[in-house]
Amino acid sequence: MSAKTGFLLHPASPLHDTGWGHPEHQGRLRALASTVGEDLPTLRGHVEQLEGQVADRGHLALVHSEAHIGRVAEACRVAEESGRIVALDPDTKVSSASWEAAVGSVGTAIAAAEAIVTGVIQTGFVATRPPGHHATPDRAMGFCLFNNIAIVARRLQERGHAERVLIVDWDVHHGNGTQDAFYDDASVFFLSLHQWPHYPGSGAANESGTGRGVGFTLNVPLPAATPRAEYIGRFHAALDEALDHFAPDFILVSSGFDAMAGDPLGGLLLEPEDFTEMTRRVVDVAAQRCGGRVLALLEGGYDPPRVGQAAVAVIRALAGL
Ligand code: ZN
Repeated sequence: MSAKTGFLLHPASPLHDTGWGHPEHQGRLRALASTVGEDLPTLRGHVEQLEGQVADRGHLALVHSEAHIGRVAEACRVAEESGRIVALDPDTKVSSASWEAAVGSVGTAIAAAEAIVTGVIQTGFVATRPPGHHATPDRAMGFCLFNNIAIVARRLQERGHAERVLIVDWDVHHGNGTQDAFYDDASVFFLSLHQWPHYPGSGAANESGTGRGVGFTLNVPLPAATPRAEYIGRFHAALDEALDHFAPDFILVSSGFDAMAGDPLGGLLLEPEDFTEMTRRVVDVAAQRCGGRVLALLEGGYDPPRVGQAAVAVIRALAGL
């Protein structure tokens, strides 16, 4: 093993153009990449940058309906032909490069997971856009086209690399798409902490799964301005509760950074140190339960300099630093 942790980008991510007035704009990832890039030399031997990949339609179909894939593809085609930005809903927009960015986002997440299962790295952080956790099996929404993290979970299962996957989602918004994908499924545990009430409206504490999936979704809705210490206490307690009846063999993290104080789309108060603490806890759990295998994917986070700082905090903690 050359380095413990991989850091992955995809070259098409910055080309996905939603318009500069849109919070999920092209500058987000440039700021993150440059902040992390400045830190990488000091992480030499611990963190290495790996190549992204492109997903194919078969990967997308692990979670999404053919109708949904076709609608996104058609919107991207219209955007490309017209040279304009096309809206899938009032929040969710595509441009000529968005298909490439979307399949790059999914494919790079899959590549990171494969690098972990083959032992190239033990943990990874994928910084791509568009994000994914609001995309349901049949619908693009909330800036998300395809649900990157849900597809990775299904891909790990399909390839026999993991039977039980724990998804931890600390984006300030509820990961409704991920919840939908696994709501009746006992093989993927979905744990979300989020501001509530807030977009997208789902994520109440009594949403805990259906059918065979009852008890395998755990929502921790928190009011705006919840004190940091209380948030972190609830995080540890929720993880304990999840692990009481679920033994993961891979852990995925929907690592949005919009729960940080000052984020324009959130009202929570976290600081980069809080992401250090949460990531260290996830890494410790993974070391005890699943061979240390943790992959974090960027979701939201709309104050680019702060997102960069928090990403560095997560990457350092993933590397055990
Ligand atoms: Zn978010």
